[in-house]
Amino acid sequence: MQEPKTYFIRTYGCQMNELDTEIMAGQLQKRGLTPSLDEENADLLIFNTCSIRDLAERKVMGKLGRMGRGDKKNSIIGVTGCMAMAKKDSLFRKFPHLDFVIGTNNITDLSHALDEVIHTKRQVFKTDDRFEENLDYLAAKRDHTVKAHVSIIRGCDKFCTYCVVPYTRGQEVSRPPESILEECKKLVDSGYKELTLLGQNVNSYGKDQPEWNCLFHDLLYKIDNIPGIERVRFLTSHPIDITRELMEAIRDLPSLCEFVHFPIQAGSSRILRKMHRIYTKEQYFEKVALLREIVPNVSLGTDIIVGFPTETEEEFQETYDAMREIRYSVAFIFAYSPRKGTPAMRWKDDIPEEIKLDRLQRLMNLQEKIMNEERSQMLGNTYEVLVERFNKDGKLLKGRTRCWKKVIFEGDASLIGTLPLIQVHSFSHQTLIGELNQIAESSPHCLSKEMQEVYKAGSLPVKR
Ligand code: SF4
Repeated sequence: MQEPKTYFIRTYGCQMNELDTEIMAGQLQKRGLTPSLDEENADLLIFNTCSIRDLAERKVMGKLGRMGRGDKKNSIIGVTGCMAMAKKDSLFRKFPHLDFVIGTNNITDLSHALDEVIHTKRQVFKTDDRFEENLDYLAAKRDHTVKAHVSIIRGCDKFCTYCVVPYTRGQEVSRPPESILEECKKLVDSGYKELTLLGQNVNSYGKDQPEWNCLFHDLLYKIDNIPGIERVRFLTSHPIDITRELMEAIRDLPSLCEFVHFPIQAGSSRILRKMHRIYTKEQYFEKVALLREIVPNVSLGTDIIVGFPTETEEEFQETYDAMREIRYSVAFIFAYSPRKGTPAMRWKDDIPEEIKLDRLQRLMNLQEKIMNEERSQMLGNTYEVLVERFNKDGKLLKGRTRCWKKVIFEGDASLIGTLPLIQVHSFSHQTLIGELNQIAESSPHCLSKEMQEVYKAGSLPVKR
């Protein structure tokens, strides 16, 4: 087998997987490989997989199966990510043409695995349970030039009964603050304007390392101190770990955006208990109320599962009512599908598919209505937008508000990476449409804390 010259990585699932892809791409480019846009003909093809949903797994299995029927050519083919952890070496039995399987804790071994495949022509399999910490984050090949993901904690100790993550990504391991700060500084110095701190549950940061004396909100204060940092976001949170200190940090830190992913999952306390979410509906509502009291202009996102085993129509209605009351800005809504290896797999998947789909549709309709009302209220207001790139049409620029609303507007490439003020005049589907407006009547709460001061002083520059 020859040293590959080109590679293609197909990424499924969450932002953590996207970051892992960037880290693997960094290793491959260090080794001299160049990225290819041609999945069929790349010398090295990697499927960086996700096991959270059945559909994502079936897509990969289908692709791997088709390759075994003749598409293999001379490529080296590997599977990484959560499916590698969940299915381990059984993947080799099902797909004998696979060359390597590398788990989420071993992506740092990618180059060694390639050496082994090339020199021994044997299948290589590495899936350690404990996270190996020597990941070369700094060598990651970033997809964006304006915003970047930064991993701060890996794994999850919550063990929600429907979720494979604690089994595929292992227990929580926080990354040392010095290492995070070094990466953040390098990214800011090289022009990145927005950093998203990643983890399955970022709010647990530092709890596994009490001697660091650095919990999540402490880390946020340190990151906010980096000269030149514009925006910080974080993903994702477990409601139980969202503390008052974190809420105050969102209120007080200029860089920290007023958007919190705050996944409720279900509106019924009985279903929440069955999911092992360790909060009741009432406790969840109390936290949301406290967050809105401390940060009145905060926007919320959520994840929701409908059709969890034994969910009654009345319990579904509680979820519906919770969504209507809380009014999330973003909601990722899914129909339950059992995942192998999880405790919920023991229970009968007893909600018929058509009922799950009906519940899903009702929530999606409600969410669409809420988002349209929210967008209507934004018309005429002015927002600070971080310009990320050209939109798909290649003509309009695309960016996001601090509250994570997508905005498109006319402008030239020199605006990419800046934070102009955009007045919204209309919207289409999920996108706000606006125009550059330096002097419009603004909604000051939609600006960063620093920009509110600038606005009050009467000058509204484009920040570069
Ligand atoms: S908090 Fe629950 S849903 Fe989230 S990753 Fe951990 S186990 Fe999965």
